[in-house]
Amino acid sequence: MRPARALIDLNALRHNYRLAREVSAAKALAVIKADAYGHGAVRCAKALQDEVDGFAVACIEEALELREAGIRAPILLLEGFFEAAELELIEQKDFWCVVHSLWQLEALERAQLNRALTVWLKLDSGMHRVGFHPDDYVAAHERLQTSSNVGKVVLMSHFARADELDCSRSEEQLEAFEQVRGGIDAEISLRNSPSVLGWPQVPSDWVRPGIMLYGATPFEQPQALASQLQPVMTLESKIISVRELPAGEPVGYAGSFVTERPTRVGVVAMGYADGYPRHAPTGTPVAVDGQLTRLIGRVSMDMITVDLTDLPQAGLGSRVEFWGKQVLASDVASRAGTIPYQIFCNLRRVPLLYSED
Ligand SMILES: *Cc1c(COP(=O)(O)O)cnc(C)c1O
Repeated sequence: MRPARALIDLNALRHNYRLAREVSAAKALAVIKADAYGHGAVRCAKALQDEVDGFAVACIEEALELREAGIRAPILLLEGFFEAAELELIEQKDFWCVVHSLWQLEALERAQLNRALTVWLKLDSGMHRVGFHPDDYVAAHERLQTSSNVGKVVLMSHFARADELDCSRSEEQLEAFEQVRGGIDAEISLRNSPSVLGWPQVPSDWVRPGIMLYGATPFEQPQALASQLQPVMTLESKIISVRELPAGEPVGYAGSFVTERPTRVGVVAMGYADGYPRHAPTGTPVAVDGQLTRLIGRVSMDMITVDLTDLPQAGLGSRVEFWGKQVLASDVASRAGTIPYQIFCNLRRVPLLYSED
């Protein structure tokens, strides 16, 4: 059996969820969209369901998968419905629903529902992607309140630059939100992971942590709270071949790496078809039998070459960690010019193996 696999530590997931709730002193929707950022939504939901305030996903397809697996907690659809026909199922399965656009508001008013839905009304406070314009928000809120199809309304907005700790844009967005909110008496939700970790001054009755649940930092720089996160996924495999090369020999596709010295090369069963980023350059850290070394040469579809020259005890069958508790996914991501969100979501082909303790 090919040794490539992703180990998922569900205790670490619970630790990170508790941290999100504790530091924000708020209720927390665990964001498990995109198959829990590659970690497996159903298993992650089951690990959290006894303590969670609710879950958030991108669309009804993801929410249905959770309900069908027996998850009874509230589930928020972060983009609401994509067509009015979904409202029947939203009612039947008791999902919570974001309303971010006028067409959704109108469809909701027109729907023939038997029970009042919980709606999260989204304001565009400056990200300029979705959400009601500040001039239209209060009127939209009033329409929701007078509709018999709507019960509780939560006011929400989303920050574009909360991961930049020295950027004033989050303050500006908060101010825009506070101005529009005015005297509306309702619960609010503004904070995603970077905001939970880095913007304690932002109020929120509900927080929406995603990436931090999986133990990866959303920041480029070290950050105190982020350093308390526990990585949930370990992507690992084994060395399947070893060769000794003299100095001056090319390794892998395009010969883009040439040995600078006599080099012991380990070949690992892992590649970009597993989701490891193809653009990770020579020098990207990997851990072999617990010791740090570097990736060398191009990442291939099914194989990756690593430098074993300084690890004489490592060889055939040695375990290689590509990211996990020793090599941080955020470091690999930044070497490869991307973010941990994407490298987790790109995971495929490897089996996910879960541990609870
Ligand atoms: C994905 C998403 C989140 C979670 O963001 P993280 O940065 O992963 O914490 C929160 N809110 C909304 C609206 C989202 O779409």
